Amino acid sequence: LVVLDNVNKHFGALHVLQDIDLTIARGEVVVVIGPSGSGKSTLCRTINRLETVDSGSITIDGKPLPAEGKELARLRADVGMVFQSFNLFAHKTVLENVTLGQTKVRKADKGSADEKARALLDRVGVGNQADKYPAQLSGGQQQRVAIARALAMDPKVMLFDEPTSALDPEMINEVLEVMQQLARDGMTMVVVTHEMGFARSAANRVVFMADGRIVEEATPEQFFSNPRSDRAKDFLSKIL
Ligand code: ATP
Ligand code: MG
Repeated sequence: LVVLDNVNKHFGALHVLQDIDLTIARGEVVVVIGPSGSGKSTLCRTINRLETVDSGSITIDGKPLPAEGKELARLRADVGMVFQSFNLFAHKTVLENVTLGQTKVRKADKGSADEKARALLDRVGVGNQADKYPAQLSGGQQQRVAIARALAMDPKVMLFDEPTSALDPEMINEVLEVMQQLARDGMTMVVVTHEMGFARSAANRVVFMADGRIVEEATPEQFFSNPRSDRAKDFLSKIL
């Protein structure tokens, strides 16, 4: 579904993505882990063209990423992204946050957008918060609204960049549970996270990055019990 072929990117002198080859199949859950600064966020951001690449290609469903305009807006809808900082529209209600993209990008009428938004808010467990503003919600609730907002666009793939890192501990699980359910429902997902429990239980594949490279790819069983590279062993010894 998503194919990165020999992707390279620099920020000035920094070679932040180096010869990245990565194929994500439909329905696959790929967890990306690695030390701070290894390029995990940049990798995610290239997949919905929040960042451009210097060389190599990225395709979704065999099509290269569009550069601009309506095509780009549609790509961003096809590739849902959930960030560490929830990035909800502060001056819109929860319901409006979830309907906006549907009416603007997908051209849904208001009635069907509302109906779908309410169903999704129910699904992520915040159906009773629809008329509040983001600031009136807990971090865990806001993040679940952000997930519902992305899902409202019927994305082909969902990218999660450390979705629970900004949350208080007691709210982490409610967000991970929503993500677990999505994975079980067959959503194609790329998840950058330090939640190794999630990686173990939800990932089909773990991708370990260091210094802008994919150093190791393995099933979670293989990766956690028997990492091959010294970089991965060192990383795991620090976090487990
Ligand atoms: P973390 O775990 O801390 O989130 P990461 O693996 O997500 O790290 P990236 O955010 O992708 O890492 O950053 C990779 C490198 O690129 C870092 O050295 C970072 O400082 C640098 N970088 C990221 N964005 C930019 C930018 N817009 N301009 C210049 N350098 C950047
Ligand atoms: Mg990051």
